[in-house]
Amino acid sequence: MTLSIKPETAFPFYLIHYTTHKKQLIIHCLKPDVQILTSNGLRIPVHTGILASVSPVLENIIDRPHKHHSSEKIIPILGVPCDAVSSFIQFLYSSRCSEEELESYGIHLLALSHVYLVPQLKHMCSKSVGQRLSTENVVDVLQLARLCDSPDLYVKCMKTLSSNFKAVEKTEGWRFMQENDPFLELEILKFIDEAESRKMRTRRHREEQRLFMELSEAMECLEHICTEGCTAVGPSDMDPTNQRGPCNKFSTCEALKTPLVNLRPILILAGFHFAGNSS
Ligand SMILES: [Zn+2]
Repeated sequence: MTLSIKPETAFPFYLIHYTTHKKQLIIHCLKPDVQILTSNGLRIPVHTGILASVSPVLENIIDRPHKHHSSEKIIPILGVPCDAVSSFIQFLYSSRCSEEELESYGIHLLALSHVYLVPQLKHMCSKSVGQRLSTENVVDVLQLARLCDSPDLYVKCMKTLSSNFKAVEKTEGWRFMQENDPFLELEILKFIDEAESRKMRTRRHREEQRLFMELSEAMECLEHICTEGCTAVGPSDMDPTNQRGPCNKFSTCEALKTPLVNLRPILILAGFHFAGNSS
C-alpha cells in the first residue's frame, strides 16, 4: 500500500508556531524532499533540512549516496506502529509530544529516539514510561531500558521489580525473560539481593543510632541526677522540693532511679559526686 498525502493535510504541525525560526523558514520556503516509509506502507513527506537538524543519524542517512538512481528519496522507519512514526516526525518538527502520544507510543518513541539520537525525546519518553510502570510491563520495559541505554529508567524498573517481585514472578514477561535471557535474570536477582542487604544495613544502623541516643541521654541524666538532682529522683540528701522546675527528661531520670539507688555506692567510689554529698 502506498499512500501519498499532501503535506498540509498530513502535517498541520508544519505551521505550528512553536517551531524554531530556522525550521519555519524551511517549512515555508521549501517543499518536502524526502518520504518516510512506515510499516503499513504509509509515506510521509518531510523536509531533509528539518530531519538533519534534529537527528544526526537521519542526517547521515540523508547524506549517504543512495543506491537506486531514482529521484525519489525514501527513508524506511519500520518495526513500530505507523502512528508512532507520525508522532516521532511530529516531534522532529515541533519538539513537542503530547501526553496521549507518550501514553500510547512511549516505548516505541523511546526506541526511535535512541536509534535516531534525539536526546530530548528520549528523556521525555524515559520519564513518561517510568511513570507508567506496572507489574505486567516492568520486565519488558527493563529490557528496553537496557537496549536503549537509559540508566534512569533501568534503575526505576529494578526498584519496581524488587519491591513487587512476588507478583512480577507470576507474569508472562518474567517467564519469557527467564527462558530467553538468563543473564538478565541473574542481574535482577543480584539487584534484589543487594537491595535487601542495603535495607538490612540501614535498619541496623538506625537501631544502633537509637541505642546510642538512649545511652547518651541516660549518661546525661545520670550526670544531672548526680550533680543537680532531679525533681523526684534527686540525691537522697537533697530535698526534691528545692528543684527549680519539672525535669524535661523525667521519664529517663525516673527509669534510672532504681539502678541508681543500687549503684550509688559504686558511683561514689568511681568518683561521681552527688550534689550535696561530701564524699
Ligand atoms: Zn531529671
